[in-house]
Amino acid sequence: MSTEGFDVVIVGAGSSGCVVAHRLVQDTDARVLLIEAGGPDSLPAIHNTDVPSTVSLWGEPSINWGYVTEPQADLNGRTLPVARGKVWGGCSSINAMLYARGNSRDYDAWAEAGNTGWSYEEVLPYFKRAEDFEGGESHYRGAGGPLKVIYHDEPSPVSERLFAAGKELGYETRGPRFDYNAEEQCDTVFYYQATKTLDHHRTSTAVAFLYPIRDKSNFTLLSDAVVTRILFSGNRAVGVEYGPPQPIGFEATDIAISDEHTRIAMPDPLPALGSEVDMVPGQIRTTFNLHDDVWISRGGRLVDRWPIAARGSSQ
Ligand SMILES: Cc1cc2nc3c(=O)[nH]c(=O)nc-3n(C[C@H](O)[C@H](O)[C@H](O)COP(=O)(O)OP(=O)(O)OC[C@H]3O[C@@H](n4cnc5c(N)ncnc54)[C@H](O)[C@@H]3O)c2cc1C
Repeated sequence: MSTEGFDVVIVGAGSSGCVVAHRLVQDTDARVLLIEAGGPDSLPAIHNTDVPSTVSLWGEPSINWGYVTEPQADLNGRTLPVARGKVWGGCSSINAMLYARGNSRDYDAWAEAGNTGWSYEEVLPYFKRAEDFEGGESHYRGAGGPLKVIYHDEPSPVSERLFAAGKELGYETRGPRFDYNAEEQCDTVFYYQATKTLDHHRTSTAVAFLYPIRDKSNFTLLSDAVVTRILFSGNRAVGVEYGPPQPIGFEATDIAISDEHTRIAMPDPLPALGSEVDMVPGQIRTTFNLHDDVWISRGGRLVDRWPIAARGSSQ
């Protein structure tokens, strides 16, 4: 690949990396290099319409990092697989596509704790700009953005049972088009919205944000390349090495690490340094105290398209 200078290097073409690349490439003249450890999202199941095929992706070694938990004391010492996407789109290529922003009070609490710019009203414009919501534009929802978000209004028999159970327990049910990503989440049973096209094809961030910029002249995508080191000049990150380690030979003005579970050096030496590592004091911080979902498969067969319902609390 060309070793001409890049202005920005983004490590990881996952959920966040594709969005950051899209905005930089579309909105600025910056020369952007996006480096991804995995390859193209060519497995059909990544783009399928049904939930069972999604589940098949969680154990697919060609697009997963293959992590397992520590032996779990409460599981008689067993370990469990932890799915993490290693492919264009990262985890958004293998995830369940549930679109839930979370509760506005959490954002407000982060802002109150000193995180400037993180109140719900301040992050709302970004949520809106990102999405193309089937229900159309409103104070809370956006239309015309790259990420398709749809209602799920084809109740499966399992979902109907869950709704009936919720009602029996006294929870309000407002039907499949209740928008829990708007002003209230209240004590109701609702259907998750999903990041899918209107004809139910999965929309990863690669589909939504990476595909549209792939041919842009200020964009370079490097696949199947594991970044092993960030190169510094003093306190300033100026480049990266990728595996097998070799300098790329450019000076970048900015480095973005786009992975909630950052992996920088392989094999990973960072946990040995303690639970928290300041890589550049005050600039990049990574924390090791992972609390994640684990997936327990009982070998059952999912037959419903979207058998998921849940209850929220007041927003
Ligand atoms: C099975 C599963 C189901 C989920 N379901 C949902 C859901 O329904 N709704 C929801 O909102 N969230 C869901 N999530 C969570 C959501 O997908 C993640 O929180 C989100 O994708 C994380 O985005 P990210 O950009 O931080 O990381 P990722 O999307 O993981 O992106 C990181 C990228 O960086 C690459 N990378 C890592 N290290 C290197 C390196 N050294 N060099 C080069 N590249 C590297 C990785 O290969 C990956 O592509 C789910 C997650 C999983 C695993």
